Order: sequence, then C-alpha cells, then structure tokens
Amino acid sequence: MPSFRDLERAAYCPRQQYYHERRDAEPTVPERVTARRAIAFEYERLLADRVARREAPLAVDPAVWRERMDRARERCDRFADLVDPPATEVYIEGSDAGGIVHKLLTDPPEPVLVSAGTPPETGVYDPQSVRATAAAQALADREGPVEHATVEYPAVGRIRRIAIGARRRGRYREVCRTVAAMEDPPPRIDSTSKCEACEFQETCGTPTRSVRSLLGL
Ligand code: SF4
Repeated sequence: MPSFRDLERAAYCPRQQYYHERRDAEPTVPERVTARRAIAFEYERLLADRVARREAPLAVDPAVWRERMDRARERCDRFADLVDPPATEVYIEGSDAGGIVHKLLTDPPEPVLVSAGTPPETGVYDPQSVRATAAAQALADREGPVEHATVEYPAVGRIRRIAIGARRRGRYREVCRTVAAMEDPPPRIDSTSKCEACEFQETCGTPTRSVRSLLGL
C-alpha cells in the first residue's frame, strides 16, 4: 500500500517515485526540515514571545511571520485547534493508502500536514493537494465524510485550508492508479526546475545543472 508521501512524490514526478520505491533505505530527514516543522507545534510560545520568535528558524522576518499568523487567526476557522491539536503524529490507514498526519483535528475530523516549504500564491501545490487528499480519504474510511484538510507552512507563517472536492479526489485517484500500475520506469517529465531539485538526476539520466551549463543548454 502506498504512503501519503509516496503519492505526493508520484504527483510531483512518477519516475521519481519509481526510483524511490527501489532504493535500499529511507533517506534521513534534514535537520533544517525537522526544525522548521517543529515551529507548527510551538505557535503559542512563539506568538507570545518576541525573543523566541527571533531565535526560531523562521524563513521570513519575525515581524512578517507575526503579521501572517495574526491574519491566519482571523481567517482560519480552526486556528485554535491548530495551536492546540487534539492529537499529533497519528498513523491513519485507509483502503488505498496510509501514512502519518502531523495533527489530527476532531469534530469534524480533519487531517493536517506540516510542510517545511513555501506555498504558492493561493492554495497548495498539486503534490501537496494529492497528499492531503490521500490523508482525508483515509480518515474518511475510518470516520465518515471529511470535507477539509489543512496544510501548514510554519516557517513562513502560512496556513492553507483546502476543500476536498471532486476535482481533488479525481486527481488523487489518478495518482493512485499510476502508482499501482508502475512496473517499468515512467517517462521523464519535462520540467527543468523540478529535475534540478530531484535527487535522482544521475540515475534518471537527466543532465545536472553543471552538465547543462558545460553543454551551453
Ligand atoms: S530527474 Fe526529473 S524526470 Fe528524473 S526522476 Fe527526477 S524529477 Fe523525474
């Protein structure tokens, strides 16, 4: 059964998931990522303490972070639950996929994922939408309908709550089918920016940035 993270990876690039599935060991999570994710569990302290904000591994100016969090508090219906979640780091298994949700809200049930990155101008990127939908579907298998999921980007003070509608569910099912049918390496994607961030560039045969500059590409 694929994990929520596998589906996110396959939504980013199916070929990347193909290589990941065949690697010997799970990669270690970089310290910077762990530190940034930890911010999502420290909101109360950071909002109350200017010095703590200055010392936290924020990716934006602490004043900007504070301003964004104040705005999130006003706009997000579930802000109080995100600050003090009923459960954290919960494994959920559904009929198609399983994985960890970083926070689990109740009444109504809602999965929350925490990202060390930065969101787009609005909403969330497609791979994160697929991961959040996978978590919502797995939770729905256990608890009944799940209408929303939240993705937090704590290092930049952004919180994105998304509705789990037919379009997201359709895309999620499409990625599930792709992963289930994967026997040979899927075709390379045509995205220089995505490939530049990919750890499998050499295995994949995609020219790295240095090779491309040597070739004048
Ligand atoms: S280098 Fe590009 S095409 Fe190859 S696996 Fe990575 S993202 Fe996919």
